[in-house]
Amino acid sequence: HEAILKTVLGDFYAQDKHYGSAYLGDQCFDSETKVDVISPNTGQKFVSISHAQPDVIENVINSAKTEFYHWRSVPAPQRGELVRLFAEKARAAKHQLATIISLESGKPFQESLGEVQELIDVCDFAVGLSRQLYGLTIATERPNHRMMEQWHPIGPVVIITAFNFPMAVWAWNATLSLICGNSIIWKPSSQTPLSALACHRLLLSAIKKFGGNAELSSIVFGEKTQVEQLVDHKDIALVSATGSCAMGRAVNCRVAARLGRTLLELGGNNAMIVCPSADLELAIRAITFSALGTSGQRCTTLRRLIVHSSLKYQVLTKLEAIYNTVSIGDPFDGLNLMGPLINQQAIDSMKVSINTAISQGGKLITGGERVSNLSNKGKEEHGFYITPAIVDIDPQADIVQQETFAPLLYVHSYDSLDQAIAIQNSVCQGLSSAIFTKDMAEAEIFVSAKGSDCGLVNVNMGTSGAEIGGAFGGEKDTGGGRESGSDAWKSYMRRMTNTINYGSELPLAQGINFDM
Ligand code: NAD
Repeated sequence: HEAILKTVLGDFYAQDKHYGSAYLGDQCFDSETKVDVISPNTGQKFVSISHAQPDVIENVINSAKTEFYHWRSVPAPQRGELVRLFAEKARAAKHQLATIISLESGKPFQESLGEVQELIDVCDFAVGLSRQLYGLTIATERPNHRMMEQWHPIGPVVIITAFNFPMAVWAWNATLSLICGNSIIWKPSSQTPLSALACHRLLLSAIKKFGGNAELSSIVFGEKTQVEQLVDHKDIALVSATGSCAMGRAVNCRVAARLGRTLLELGGNNAMIVCPSADLELAIRAITFSALGTSGQRCTTLRRLIVHSSLKYQVLTKLEAIYNTVSIGDPFDGLNLMGPLINQQAIDSMKVSINTAISQGGKLITGGERVSNLSNKGKEEHGFYITPAIVDIDPQADIVQQETFAPLLYVHSYDSLDQAIAIQNSVCQGLSSAIFTKDMAEAEIFVSAKGSDCGLVNVNMGTSGAEIGGAFGGEKDTGGGRESGSDAWKSYMRRMTNTINYGSELPLAQGINFDM
């Protein structure tokens, strides 16, 4: 793995495993602070990073602003060419990039390959989009006038990302920002600094080949203090933040105080309804992938299963059997479906949630036990492995409101579809939802205005595994943002309405007479 890091990180590779605090284009800055990054796979120190100092952050923002003034005038299809060059490099480095994701986040390697594919897919989408940043032409009520919309670049974009999709979420934001004419500053999760550095370096080499300026892309490492300085800055045109609802609330309040723009992709508390007519075999497969994929650490992970009471026993029995045999361990071993959780805190919070659920009347069906793993030298290591859990609980229990970012599935039962939809919509978050039914009316009701209140609503498939072509995001405490496909690009631009008078009169709108 060290050889892969050396190749992908190039000049940024640190022999002593200590990385900088900020990367402004191709310059690296360091600071006194030294923060260890612990590998979720082994529980051992992986690398260390520093946190950026205020003067460095100011420098990064000023450079991003200066570069924005240049980049905004490069024609959009040419900006697309830069993203195409980046995608070429990402395609060639797919396995290496996936290795870095699995090393840092503990994501099973197959899923890491999928994440890099998602990064490549969104590049392709953005390249096409770079010729389609359309505005409307609107009929005007005034003679000899033309009214039209134009979309223009907005300015430097700060991209804050979470540990669980350390490359794809940046790619959603970075590729659209770049084709829209904006410079980018990335504040990645402190758990996954090398994923960020690897993408940044590939982008820099694409920028070099393109003939652009390295200052188009920067990275700032840090936590609350560094994020606050970035998001408070008046020159940051858009803060795109992905992470927990608590982080989103903190960031949103600060940006709102300066009347800035945010794009929020926050926590989920996703549910699936299983109806009496459901194809149970398909439903069980969908539940298993949605609940256990990425070890229960996807924003779209299935957290609540709402099963018709006639099927509850059958579904629980099947799930219990699967949960008890699921293979957990080294994410690089293709036989393992689940890797570790991200850190000790994640293990602790899963255990606390299980205990709280039990104290609120829930019944633990299975799971929640720590699993130890053996290193390839046969030594016991303390990666953060735990068995996935199922708790049978009343949907009214307080704990069900919370997103526990771990493989913990709550199971509820229902008797009427109205009741099931009410349970599905009863939490604060509104990201992803699903229904399994063969009854067309039930499926249509679920996707109708009186159905699910989420941003992602699926029929006969699970809650996770979205494609990049659709707009991704959710309602309520999930933050309301939409990223990736459809017309999500509009969030990265400013809309200008132009009205042009090509006549020799000055008619006023609404028929107002103002003759002098
Ligand atoms: P997190 O909120 O702990 O961290 C996310 C980012 O915000 C990191 O870069 C972190 O350094 C920063 N941050 C954290 N607390 C902060 C604070 N108080 N002030 C400023 N910055 C702060 O999230 P995580 O543990 O990395 O990721 C898991 C969470 O992310 C889950 O809630 C998950 O649902 C959510 N998520 C959402 C989406 C989505 O698209 N909706 C995608 C991925 C993850």
